[in-house]
Amino acid sequence: SRRFSGPINQLANIISELQSAFAAAERVFMLMDEPAEAADIVDAHEYGDVEGEVSMSDVSFGYTPDNYTIKDLDFEAPSGNLVAIVGPTGAGKTTLVNLLMRFYDPNEGAIQLDGVDTTQAIRESLRLSYAMVLQDTWLFSGTVYENLAYGKENVTMEEVQEAAKAAQIHDYIMSLPDGYETVIDESGMNISQGQKQLLTIARAMILDANLLILDEATSNVDTQTEIKIQAAMKKLMKGKTSFVIAHRLSTIRNADTILVVKDGRIVEQGNHERLLEEDGLYSELYYSQFESYA
Ligand code: ADP
Repeated sequence: SRRFSGPINQLANIISELQSAFAAAERVFMLMDEPAEAADIVDAHEYGDVEGEVSMSDVSFGYTPDNYTIKDLDFEAPSGNLVAIVGPTGAGKTTLVNLLMRFYDPNEGAIQLDGVDTTQAIRESLRLSYAMVLQDTWLFSGTVYENLAYGKENVTMEEVQEAAKAAQIHDYIMSLPDGYETVIDESGMNISQGQKQLLTIARAMILDANLLILDEATSNVDTQTEIKIQAAMKKLMKGKTSFVIAHRLSTIRNADTILVVKDGRIVEQGNHERLLEEDGLYSELYYSQFESYA
């Protein structure tokens, strides 16, 4: 299965290790910062309530300087767009989203959010503009309420329940012995994979960030749960600029832009119809991989 590697995964691990529902998001970012991460520039821009317009221009990046993983990436994502990122394993999809959140800085080119070069902004304010729903869902030992409210201050039970209802996980939560006060054990063994995903989607809804990064899981969930997950994701993404490492045909078909990544390059971009017409790598992937899910 495809997993987020590197810093995002470390972040997930750190969060589960914190085991504290009320640690401020700031603390997470502090712990996550690697020593090598450069300090913010003087008088750096602070992102507040962002519009969510994202672009990359001629971005190249290598984990080591002599070997670029990402080459000459160019795209524009207008505010509210759904961007599906597809391509073979190892193509650079995860690296691309790592760059959006400045877990690394490009060696060449620039990434902008709302017209501001992200390297000219306060890193933490950039990261707080995003909510993530990853394949490795992170729950920690704490109550269901604490797990859902994580990352945001002063969240009321009402807000939590509203999000849980929107994600269609409320009824399940109410069926637990203590409802929202039920303690999830560390391993989360008592919760199915599908339910965990719905909980993470509800959590992202509560965060209400204008930018989203989602890694679509391909785990085995039953059809009913799969339908719920798709519906919840659709609600979550509404009006937000969303970057989805996409495995679901429905997401890909609905995307405003599909970025087809291969060997660190965007080899094709456009919507579903346009890319099928191009008859290139996308149509090849579509017919070989995705068609069976149609
Ligand atoms: P994808 O998400 O499309 O499967 P990745 O972005 O994870 O691709 O990986 C692209 C390339 O970068 C792969 O060759 C991978 O081995 C390499 N890579 C990924 N993360 C790191 C890292 N932290 N350090 C060095 N190389 C990495």
